[in-house]
Amino acid sequence: MTLHAAYDPDNIFAKILRQEMPCVKVYEDDLALAFMDVFPQADGHTLVIPKAVTARNFLDLPSDRIGSYMQSVQLVCRAVETGLNPDGLILTQFNGAAAGQTVFHLHFHIIPAYKDRGLKRHAGGEMAQAEILEGHAKRIRAALP
Ligand code: AMP
Repeated sequence: MTLHAAYDPDNIFAKILRQEMPCVKVYEDDLALAFMDVFPQADGHTLVIPKAVTARNFLDLPSDRIGSYMQSVQLVCRAVETGLNPDGLILTQFNGAAAGQTVFHLHFHIIPAYKDRGLKRHAGGEMAQAEILEGHAKRIRAALP
């Protein structure tokens, strides 16, 4: 997938937004949705996606949506930090397959970093068990304002 292909309305995250596919939800408002990554690189790996846009990547996001979207990303980041108490937080966002992007609806990754644990592979490895993801989501949700 190049940086500039057309938005595919059947990408996984579009299906999650239309509730055609499940997700372990953490946060939702009118403009953003956050849910657990099913192939987490670390415990508590959370994704934040903008709603009501056909943005494949950061370049596509209308500039008047950047502020509200990044506020949601920060809100969820703070809740991940408070809820899970990691030693650090990694924010990533890939644009185009060449950069490592595998799902073509804009998203930021919030990946907790723990001193004694390395990161698992990006977008691979084993799918996490739903009850484990739900346990992390519950702690993050409880930390939201
Ligand atoms: P990227 O490679 O930056 O496009 O990230 C896509 C992310 O979505 C990866 O970290 C995947 O593990 C994750 N992912 C793929 N399918 C799902 C799904 N159905 N629910 C939640 N996360 C997913």
